[in-house]
Amino acid sequence: MDYLPLFVDVRTRKVVLIGGGVVAARKAELLIKAQADLVVISPTLCTQLQAEHQQNKFVWLAEDYQSIHLDDAFLVIAATDDALLNETVFYDANERKIFVNVVDDQPLCSFIVPSIIDRSPVIVAISSGGTAPVLARLLREKLETMLPTSLGKMAEIAGRWRHKVKETLTNMRERKRFWEKSFSGRFASLVEKGQFSEAEQQLERQLYEPDNHGELILVGAGPGDAGLLTLKGLRVLQSAEVVLYDHLVSEEILELVRRDADKICVGKRAGNHSVSQEETNALIVKFAQQGKKVVRLKGGDPFVFGRGGEELQVAAQAGIPFQVVPGVTAAIGAAAYAGVPLTHREHSQSITFITGHCRENGMELDWQALARGNQTLAIYMGTVKAAKISEQLIQFGRAENTPVAVIGCGTRREQKVVTGKLDELEVLAQQAPAPALIVVGEVAALHQQLAWFGSQTEDIRWRSAVLELA
Ligand code: SAH
Repeated sequence: MDYLPLFVDVRTRKVVLIGGGVVAARKAELLIKAQADLVVISPTLCTQLQAEHQQNKFVWLAEDYQSIHLDDAFLVIAATDDALLNETVFYDANERKIFVNVVDDQPLCSFIVPSIIDRSPVIVAISSGGTAPVLARLLREKLETMLPTSLGKMAEIAGRWRHKVKETLTNMRERKRFWEKSFSGRFASLVEKGQFSEAEQQLERQLYEPDNHGELILVGAGPGDAGLLTLKGLRVLQSAEVVLYDHLVSEEILELVRRDADKICVGKRAGNHSVSQEETNALIVKFAQQGKKVVRLKGGDPFVFGRGGEELQVAAQAGIPFQVVPGVTAAIGAAAYAGVPLTHREHSQSITFITGHCRENGMELDWQALARGNQTLAIYMGTVKAAKISEQLIQFGRAENTPVAVIGCGTRREQKVVTGKLDELEVLAQQAPAPALIVVGEVAALHQQLAWFGSQTEDIRWRSAVLELA
């Protein structure tokens, strides 16, 4: 290890910053945030520093640097564009045994300033020891997305409760369990929603009547590519205690679930239910009533042909608190990865999501409305009924040669897109791997030009090149 990480308390300590330009302004901002007694040495100041000086955020000595400026200093930062001056500051500070940093000049630093993620009072600091600052920055961006902005508030509330919790729960293991449960459970969810007083009530309840309330979170996993999961969805998966998932959820996404969570497949396929909806509902209620954080992970979006509404109604009836994290629904994801824009100013002014799998004796679709031109139909669970769909649409007036696309395993490595005309839909539907989405409308033809993902892309490029030559 080349550097010892430290968090330094600079409140009421003199920190000298030499330089008045934009680089110095960036350092000043951080030092002001950390409440240092800041002294800026520079004949002139940039506009940002001027504005801050007017608000008395630091002392400004409008002079050229002299070593006397370092008297009583705790830390020194040199941020001028004069290399010689920076070097002088470095040697002066070293002689006086004061920590010194010359911005962007690692050999002239006795300390370096890390990249930080500020969720005060929680602060994450990252450093590559000056070897790869861009890598450290990328890492910071990654962590930044993973840490909710509510983290600071959560730590602040926890700080206030720490003493009380210690007095009430005298056993250390019990305390550990209490905080783990709070930071990954309902308390955390309430803070994230900005309901701070309810969050504190939850802590209180948890402290005096532990393990009483679980919760249900519906999470949309998207159509397959794990990159399409939302950041919030990822965070929820990483704090789940029980995950009930569909067969549509990809392996890649299941990999992201917290290691020690119970993962239970409640997958169902049309007509071949492995776990009935009633059994799934019963599992949700059972685990939530055990005080667990239950995540119901669904393919696509939970509210689009996902029975999310029904499951929430069950939770509402049982008095279980719930939340919903939306996902990218199959039509949006698969169409994007197939290069089929669902609307297009020249071809389609509206888009309708329909299901090809209706309940027995359920409502018939409004074929007359669906058969009108200038619109796109995205048909879920439609491959089995492809013959009927094309027959009805044509009978009610949609042209036989309307372009169609069948997108199998959309957004996944195995994605396969088959295109053709409406009157060929039945055959096309048999050629795409399940799960598959049917797109009916002029936009489907754009796949030929706009395909960008998956193995068929090269075929198409090659075919168009051949066509062009011919
Ligand atoms: N809630 C899901 C839909 C569930 S219904 C969502 O919002 O996407 C199941 C149907 O979704 C499948 O029969 C298929 O038509 C479609 N589907 C789901 N994932 C798909 C994928 N990766 N590619 C194409 N279609 C998909």
